[in-house]
Amino acid sequence: MNKTIHIESLAAMRDFAAEMARTLSGKGAVLALSGDLGAGKTTFTQILAASLGVKRPVTSPTFTLVCEYDLATGQRLVHMDLYRLNSVSDLDALGFDEYIQSGDLICIEWPDRAEGALPSDTLYMKIEIPKNDPLSRIVTLTQRD
Ligand code: ADP
Ligand code: MG
Repeated sequence: MNKTIHIESLAAMRDFAAEMARTLSGKGAVLALSGDLGAGKTTFTQILAASLGVKRPVTSPTFTLVCEYDLATGQRLVHMDLYRLNSVSDLDALGFDEYIQSGDLICIEWPDRAEGALPSDTLYMKIEIPKNDPLSRIVTLTQRD
């Protein structure tokens, strides 16, 4: 699967994330969120979390690397930000493989830091800001068939 979506505004991003929440709810999934700083990886995760019923504020796990939120389905939403990951051995310390195998819904910012450790059915989501329109986003979804 390879699909590109033009998202016109933050409001449209809310609709898109809510739709993704409906699709992913109750399923285990690994979402690899890539894009420059400010592209909207954390914003997307926040809206996804809210759409899944998370009431706690979702903040960027920049220093803790991982935050967990309990969902009504009994699953967890696991939000990782691997920007500050120094080495692959840090992944072990984080319990990365356990998270991946947990059947939870995992959102990973800066997933390139964990390349090789991501499962083959990872859903890759790249967010880009078009130069001429800073409030819109181009989202490319890729998943191996
Ligand atoms: P990242 O986690 O990728 O570094 P953030 O989510 O922290 O990015 O920041 C994205 C910023 O862009 C937020 O301030 C958000 O409000 C803003 N923004 C504006 N328009 C959009 C949009 N259409 N989709 C996502 N974020 C948007
Ligand atoms: Mg972020």
